[in-house]
Amino acid sequence: MSPPGPDTRPSLLDLPPEGLAEIVGDLGEPGYRAAQVGRGVYRRFATDFEEMTDLPRGLRSRLAKRLRVGAAAVAGEQTSADDSTTKLLLRMDDGELIETVLMRYDPFGRRRARRTVCISTQAGCAMGCTFCATGAQGFRRQLSAGEILSQVLTMARVASAEGDGGGLTNVVFMGMGEPLANYAATHAALSRLTAADGFGMSPRRITVSTVGLPAGMRRLAADHPQVNLAVSLHAADEALRRDLVPVPSASLGGIVEAARAHVAATGRRVSVEYVLLAGVNDSAAQAGQLGRLLRGLNCHVNLIPINSSPGVLGERPSRSAVLRFQARLTAAGVPATVRVEKGRDIAAACGQLRGDRAPAGC
Ligand code: SAH
Ligand code: SF4
Repeated sequence: MSPPGPDTRPSLLDLPPEGLAEIVGDLGEPGYRAAQVGRGVYRRFATDFEEMTDLPRGLRSRLAKRLRVGAAAVAGEQTSADDSTTKLLLRMDDGELIETVLMRYDPFGRRRARRTVCISTQAGCAMGCTFCATGAQGFRRQLSAGEILSQVLTMARVASAEGDGGGLTNVVFMGMGEPLANYAATHAALSRLTAADGFGMSPRRITVSTVGLPAGMRRLAADHPQVNLAVSLHAADEALRRDLVPVPSASLGGIVEAARAHVAATGRRVSVEYVLLAGVNDSAAQAGQLGRLLRGLNCHVNLIPINSSPGVLGERPSRSAVLRFQARLTAAGVPATVRVEKGRDIAAACGQLRGDRAPAGC
């Protein structure tokens, strides 16, 4: 039982790595109990100490007096008509609402089935990209590391109940907000996600997507060299880029230079994301310009025809315009694919997340 009144107990998911062991030690318990609690939270996705039935009952209630697990409260759920995509509306402790998306991919060739969770790092976003529903609502607040982690654990719980072994195979930081504008929490969440005594996911299965903040890109390469980086570019021309992505600190030249530094430091290929907007950035000439900008960079371009949302600008190009853009880039020696779409019917696709206050299903 929680104490009455506002819950002021710290969240376990927000503790520093050694914090749980310290609390368990304070309670006079042996060290292995901390590992047991960690497994309960990170491997069995317990949302409450009472679910950790391998702990003595007394310890469960003493822990609950000091701490809460910090699991997110599910305020709404929608699944796409083809069942491949589930979007959860999650309520944070202060009532703030955010969205998290689970995407299920069937096996393809030698590739096994995948379940990817797309998580948010901020409520809203300050970057103001003209085509993005999250950007249109502005910045509300940073999420804590625990709030970022709780999204993965909530979806892991959903996925673990599904067939063929269940479980999440990939995590992408591509939901609401700009991860590198919330660096400390993103860094802490990545550390817990990849720690052997945390969620234990291989960093190679995690991707952080950024609007392109060069200083943050360099820090990420140093702190998490195995984590994949995706850079959202959307233009190969400085003036157009400033119109679409009004972030003063980031020139295209500076972003591409930071991407090169990332490849040099990590030895890993970067992804470049390019939202295609009809008549704005989708001409063959612009594809050629992008090819020249990216020449020599070890990268792969994901082309994303814009997903519409109320209040955002831009039209989808025709299929033939998308394919022409892709062909032109490929001919320039830059590999490019068109992103597989998921969840458009439930506004769960790229750039459609708003943390709506309307109940799910509306
Ligand atoms: N802030 C980060 C991560 C979240 S946005 C970033 O910008 O990279 C995740 C991806 O969705 C980005 O590549 C972004 O450009 C893309 N996106 C935003 N709005 C979109 C829209 N309306 N249609 C398609 N993709 C969109
Ligand atoms: Fe923010 Fe990314 Fe949306 Fe731009 S695309 S407003 S950086 S969430």
